[in-house]
Amino acid sequence: MPSSRLPGLYTLTVEERRRRVAEAAGIDVSDLAALDGGLSEDDAAGMIENVLGRHALPFAVATNFTVDGTDALVPMVVEEPSVVAAASNAARMVRGAGGFTTTVAPPIVTGQIQLTHIADVERAVAALGDAAPQLLARARELSPRLCARGGGPVAVSARILARPPGPDGGVIVVHVDVDCRDAMGANLVNTLCERLAEPAAHVAGSKVGLRILSNLSDQRTVRVTCRAPDDALADARCPGPEVRAAIAAASRFAELDSYRAVTHNKGVMNGVDAVLVATAQDWRAVEAGAHAYAARTGAYRPLAVWREVDGGLVGELELPLAVGTVGGALHVHRGARLALRLAGVDAAPRLASLAGAAGLACNLAALRALATDGIQHGHMALHARAVARAAGAPADLVDDVADALAAAGDVRIEAARVILQAMAAKDTP
Ligand code: NAD
Repeated sequence: MPSSRLPGLYTLTVEERRRRVAEAAGIDVSDLAALDGGLSEDDAAGMIENVLGRHALPFAVATNFTVDGTDALVPMVVEEPSVVAAASNAARMVRGAGGFTTTVAPPIVTGQIQLTHIADVERAVAALGDAAPQLLARARELSPRLCARGGGPVAVSARILARPPGPDGGVIVVHVDVDCRDAMGANLVNTLCERLAEPAAHVAGSKVGLRILSNLSDQRTVRVTCRAPDDALADARCPGPEVRAAIAAASRFAELDSYRAVTHNKGVMNGVDAVLVATAQDWRAVEAGAHAYAARTGAYRPLAVWREVDGGLVGELELPLAVGTVGGALHVHRGARLALRLAGVDAAPRLASLAGAAGLACNLAALRALATDGIQHGHMALHARAVARAAGAPADLVDDVADALAAAGDVRIEAARVILQAMAAKDTP
């Protein structure tokens, strides 16, 4: 698309907005009818069980995004007010400095095969190591279409989980790493694990336990960076360098404290999840993986951090993002398919880039709002003391008058005089 800058989009009616967005995305406006639910009753009834209807949420696009040098309208479905505006505002802040740059790792998802009741786990792991090339070859034979697309199983490894005696005897887990190309991969990997379990158990001399993917897709990450210059961070009352310092301090707070890091990451996921829901992704899988990734060092840490650089801030977000542009609910959800078209997404890596960029944007917007509130509060307190003095408050009453002004949210000299008169009246016997 030529530009994701659509100034004044928020002032239009929904109908006008559809025309404007369709024009910008090069889509026939009648196609946007898919956004009215995006799912037929029959399709809904075929997706899950006991269907009674179709649940609606607002569908919107965030504007101003430049991701890896290309503009995109970012589709978002979310029930929380301000998320779309916050994402669009932050995207605008970083747009002048090049927008968001992303690095998407190869789409590797790990399948797990649990092997139990092993007498000698060391020997079993060694045997699995020796047999890994044959098991990998077998795994690739089992995924001919994925291999033909340039993906497929890429590694087989084994690890000891428990030694006998124990309720399950000796336990090993076999990991099968699979390049899922443009699929999220859960069904692909689950099917493969089910088929590879018996050959693996035969090598290990074990019983077969669970066979399922891990949602900790820590190899399938997206890394997003951006630069927010001071002049873009500034607002009418807060100079850019102060906002920059306050956001960097907020980032360090999240790095030091898990209670804060969780809320910090919730702000990141506001953006990520809204894109995932709009495009019918398995957002529970991404959520589970993201938080496990945040805690991978043993302490729960922020997924995004901000550092001060000369004249601005640099933000960096990293999280696992197993998303697909084929398969899953996309088969049936017309609205989600249209969302991908609106965003110009042609393959899974681009979807991961946009979702990650939306996450970093929402994080920046949240931190800036918190930081400027704090700065404004600080400025207000300083200003209130000056106003109290200017209104003639004696030194021992300056703080009381300033507190009363700040609490009333009315920091004017007239208000200070009224407060001083009230204090004097109270003191008069
Ligand atoms: P899927 O089962 O629809 O498989 C993807 C299909 O797309 C395959 O048949 C593949 O051959 C085909 N394909 C076409 N073009 C492709 C391309 N370019 N790259 C890759 N594949 C291509 O989907 P899936 O991604 O295997 O599974 C996702 C679904 O599984 C989601 O709906 C998810 O909710 C669900 N699920 C998740 C979990 C979990 O996360 N724990 C568990 C079970 C199921």
